[in-house]
Amino acid sequence: MLLLVYLALGGDAIVERVQSLGVSAALPAYVALFGALVLALWLVSRIHSDRIRWPIALLLFVSAGFMAANERITGQHFTYESFLNMLDAAGFFGDALAQHGGQIGLAALSALPLWLGVGLRPRTRPQFGWKAGIAIPLAILIGFTAMLFMRGGDGARGVPGAWPPIAYALLLGSERATRPSVEPRGVELTPGRPSASGDIVLLIDESIAPTYLDVNDPAGVRSGLAQPRSGVAIHNFGIGAAVTHCSLGSNLTLRHGGTREDYHLRNTAGPTIWQYAKAAGYRTVYLDAQRTGGAFQNGMDASEAKDIDRFVQFGDVDVIDRDHAVAARLSELLRDNVRDVIVVNKIGAHFPVQAKYPESATRYAPVPSRGGFAGIVDTASREGFDDSGKGWRRYRNAYRNTVEWNVGGFFDRLFAGGVGNATILYTADHGQDLNEVGRPGASTHCSGSPTPAEGAVPIVVLAGEGAGGPDWGGAASANANRASHYQFFPTLLGLMGYPAGDYGATLTMPLDDEMRFNTRFNARLGRLPQWLAIYPDELPRPPATDSETR
Ligand SMILES: [Zn+2]
Repeated sequence: MLLLVYLALGGDAIVERVQSLGVSAALPAYVALFGALVLALWLVSRIHSDRIRWPIALLLFVSAGFMAANERITGQHFTYESFLNMLDAAGFFGDALAQHGGQIGLAALSALPLWLGVGLRPRTRPQFGWKAGIAIPLAILIGFTAMLFMRGGDGARGVPGAWPPIAYALLLGSERATRPSVEPRGVELTPGRPSASGDIVLLIDESIAPTYLDVNDPAGVRSGLAQPRSGVAIHNFGIGAAVTHCSLGSNLTLRHGGTREDYHLRNTAGPTIWQYAKAAGYRTVYLDAQRTGGAFQNGMDASEAKDIDRFVQFGDVDVIDRDHAVAARLSELLRDNVRDVIVVNKIGAHFPVQAKYPESATRYAPVPSRGGFAGIVDTASREGFDDSGKGWRRYRNAYRNTVEWNVGGFFDRLFAGGVGNATILYTADHGQDLNEVGRPGASTHCSGSPTPAEGAVPIVVLAGEGAGGPDWGGAASANANRASHYQFFPTLLGLMGYPAGDYGATLTMPLDDEMRFNTRFNARLGRLPQWLAIYPDELPRPPATDSETR
């Protein structure tokens, strides 16, 4: 009975799958698959031994809850690609729990009948030993995994949700076990005289929708980049395309110089921006505002980090103050007369944004309750997120306040300290869908089938007095709304004095970028990347009716 209750709670997905298949040859195949996976649940629920049955029940419960939580939050089917993205974003688990605690709780509730249904001792016959109770379900699971493998990870739609995450984990395990090892590559280009005279900075913001900045839209919030500043020239390249709509893929590619045609190998084998910088005589510095305690993120590992001379995190600073602390530290580095190449990961405006700014900096209202959100990057609060129209309106206001604090406030602080003769390339890892048009689900980025807004990012170049370098002003007006992340790596190499390699065009060449981002960055199991175009004029703009500005 409990198993039936569990299956009935997933009834919507079953109906959807059947409707999408219609009366076709695929329908009996789906029915057979569904039947086999239900049979597997029933068989394990009838294992005689408590000591075997309860752990299996727990595993199935966790898996089913994970699947249900993801589908509830995104409003989309949870694919293998999404599974890989979620693993990559595991560092943001605390954020997700804080933002979507309510949905995660409901998901766990929906999987509870499964836990009890499998875990509770069967009172009637038949009861099974390991052959029928374990071997047959295992064979069914392996068969299901093999089918997913052959279909490139597809085909789990509408099956009992307990099985897909387990099968995805098996898929990932077998992929890792059979992956050929890649020989790391060193720097092969020879650096000449740097074209930039000072420090070179790759400044990566977090979750910034370019249309919410005043430099790109009159209704945007104060970015600190719209007014002339003394000691620094600001060149706005407008709205650009990200590598992808998740943090890891964009960051990894920005540091490794992956191209649209060849990013898997380059991102794995290098050489990295650190290697290029060191070979050209720079000191390498990484400022990471997001993680603490030396934890790596965004695909970095110890072998990449060994080329970083100064690895700085801000664990002793409150999350609310981290970007401001980064600005102060960055300004010091830019003026210390050491030639640095610096990569920065800001706090920016990742969810939850309810309390990433001080209450006194509330300019846009009404906002959601700040609740227990203060200090969150890594702590958890159970307060949920109301994804109704009203909830989104409040959320967008909190988002604006956060952007004004962590972007506008950041640049105020940075410029007050001074940038010396540095050249700074500013962008965000990905954009945001802030639900201006209304769509199901509560995800802002990294979703299974993203909207263009998730891959749209700001691109701005800041040149301190005496920075030298190319004609940024001319490039910014010629290439406004035509650039992408893919020009960053070759641009950085050029500033360090490297000749043009095979990394593609720089920001200062006449650009006609595809303006497409990768919606299938992992592209595993023989699948190809999938590209989604951005048309800057068609991106959603900040709705004027959201706020009573203070
Ligand atoms: Zn991100």
